[in-house]
Amino acid sequence: MKAKDIAQLLDEPACTHNKKSKSGCAKPKPGATAGGCAFDGAQIALLPIADVAHIVHGPIACAGSSWDNRGTRSSGPGLYRIGMTTDLTEQDVVMGRGEKRLFHAIKQAIEEYQPPAVFVYNTCVPALVGDDFEAVCRAAEERWNIPVVPVDAAGFYGTKNLGNRIAGEAMVKYVVGKREPDPLPAAAAALPFKTHDINLVGEYNIAGEFWHVLPLFDELGIRVLCTLSGDARFREVQTMHRAEVNMMVCSKALINVARKLQESYNIPWFEGSFYGITDTSQALRDVARIIDDPDLTARTEALIAREEARIRSELAPWRERLMGKRVLLYTGGVKSWSVISALQDLGMVVVATGTNKSTEEDKERIRELMGENTKMVEDGSPRALIGIVHEYKADILIAGGRNMYTALKAKIPFLDINQEREFGYAGYQGMLELVRQLALTMESPVWQQVRQPAPWETASVGEPLSSKESMAG
Ligand code: SF4
Repeated sequence: MKAKDIAQLLDEPACTHNKKSKSGCAKPKPGATAGGCAFDGAQIALLPIADVAHIVHGPIACAGSSWDNRGTRSSGPGLYRIGMTTDLTEQDVVMGRGEKRLFHAIKQAIEEYQPPAVFVYNTCVPALVGDDFEAVCRAAEERWNIPVVPVDAAGFYGTKNLGNRIAGEAMVKYVVGKREPDPLPAAAAALPFKTHDINLVGEYNIAGEFWHVLPLFDELGIRVLCTLSGDARFREVQTMHRAEVNMMVCSKALINVARKLQESYNIPWFEGSFYGITDTSQALRDVARIIDDPDLTARTEALIAREEARIRSELAPWRERLMGKRVLLYTGGVKSWSVISALQDLGMVVVATGTNKSTEEDKERIRELMGENTKMVEDGSPRALIGIVHEYKADILIAGGRNMYTALKAKIPFLDINQEREFGYAGYQGMLELVRQLALTMESPVWQQVRQPAPWETASVGEPLSSKESMAG
């Protein structure tokens, strides 16, 4: 990818902060945790497209470090979970065999799995060597008559956020608009009201959480043409240009997709989230508002009223247990603001939040929700996090899996909120799961026990431990 293309991707006109200063997204400072590389960001954005063969062109470690690291679920094909790589070695580099290996990898993927498409991710080594991987993709596409999409996202191009955009750019350039949506199924066509089509951009169906939300859209007669990219199929991505509205879920990492679909196909977009009752209702309202169908608006309001009443009564006993509890939220990711809103819905107090991978827009949203003096945590080192937990008297650390041992060693209750988590928290139903997990974590009797001094710390010198203590010891 040329430097001017990278600069163009960073200079995103749809970001408000960018309009002001042409600053693009903040670059990580030396020494700060940079998170994943651009390749990681690109693959993480597209890997959930479940029926595609995803080939990583590079040394095997690139594929290993990002494979399946989002616990995204598929309701059908599982091809996306097969890690495919050209496994470039030093020998291949010295002998100039990279392109050949890639061609054979594509051949093998197509012949063994007959996927509807192959995505090829470029990484640092072939980019530095100068493999013309796009030409290989074109040749393979001609040879097997199957779309072979090049995703030029070598890690050194930039951050994970940039990688997300590169992925979005590849979809808009090579995939979207190549097919018309399927006709409505007979049952949907027979509905007494007009149905509508939408896309969700940036929804990854982590732990299957989008399945909490999809029934709501079904009930409203709204067909989700494509979620980019949770539980998506290649043929769905091809039809994204026919949606009436695009919802950007949680973050602006794929904002370029929404902007380009607006420019090319006149599809309006808005930003929303399915975390928390307030935000879920607002997202449904915004969809109806933009589609501008009075009947849909009325049905949406009725559905919101019914679902809110149901979930609030189911949440009541849990809410009492969580009210006023203090949270340090360190997602290190892009969705901090949407989780803050969900926690505030439960009456919890978010004392500080991590923003080291948030876009400038995400940070602005956080300030709106938590006030200007919000403690934004850039330093996610174990020492800093534990320091903040103690300083702000947090009752729980909600963070990504890699912080789990930090919290547990410091005897602090911990809940995994990141992409590796086991539970889905989206939609009204997801709130119930969230409160359950929060309460179970904070109220676990283990915290009291582990915080007590060990018997040998309290026994005076020479005094024998009681038999119970010696057994425990
Ligand atoms: S920085 Fe380069 S070498 Fe490292 S994982 Fe990313 S693409 Fe691979």
